[in-house]
Amino acid sequence: MAPRKLAAGNWKMNGDLAALAEIDALVTAHPAPGCEVVICPPAMLLHPMKARAGAVIALGGQDCHANRSGAHTGDIAAGQLKDAGATYVILGHSERRADHGETDAMVAAKAAAAHAAGLTAIICVGETESQRDGDETLTVIASQLDGSIPEGATAANTVIAYEPVWAIGTGRTPTTDQIAEVHALMRERLAGKVQDAAQVRLLYGGSVKPGNAAEIFAVPDVDGALVGGASLKAIDFGPIIAALAAA
Ligand code: PEP
Repeated sequence: MAPRKLAAGNWKMNGDLAALAEIDALVTAHPAPGCEVVICPPAMLLHPMKARAGAVIALGGQDCHANRSGAHTGDIAAGQLKDAGATYVILGHSERRADHGETDAMVAAKAAAAHAAGLTAIICVGETESQRDGDETLTVIASQLDGSIPEGATAANTVIAYEPVWAIGTGRTPTTDQIAEVHALMRERLAGKVQDAAQVRLLYGGSVKPGNAAEIFAVPDVDGALVGGASLKAIDFGPIIAALAAA
């Protein structure tokens, strides 16, 4: 059986209470049968968004701390995300790795904390442009996967997002062959680490738009997308969800 399709929206540091109207629009447009949708807004929007999203759209955080609580000013514990209505959390996004020096080991510790709190971790990996140009993509992805996935990861508590750093927010995307090559490597690599590797959802992320979604979702082993800019407006994210449901 193919893994359940997942369309995940990463709002990053965008959105406010007025933006909750986008969730109302998505709830009306969704559900697309067989396709799960999750929005990861800034943390302060989780609780009010939950009231609008109901059971139709799942919610996620964009990061969590590896500890359960304590003196970590500005950080959020996985349990607090869960308490606010999240069932997912994005971890190891390239912006976190670049802006906050997050290493694979830190991502793995955060993912273990997410699992302990009952959250599904969306673990991001991806090569930089110079790594792609240097023909290092597969080595980099294998190493990030090995280092970022904690013990105890399963298809139920872990999703992997392949996000080439150079494709995020740039309007550029890899070729479908390049996406297929990385997703095949990820599926194979997971087999050594996760019991039910065939069921782990593998997302592609990086400039997914309504105009390229169908082509990307036709790639083998692409079970959905992690979408940044085009997830902010229902008018863009809705067609992406529809393309995934139709794939
Ligand atoms: C992202 O930030 O995870 C992302 C994929 O962004 P965008 O869709 O805007 O490229």
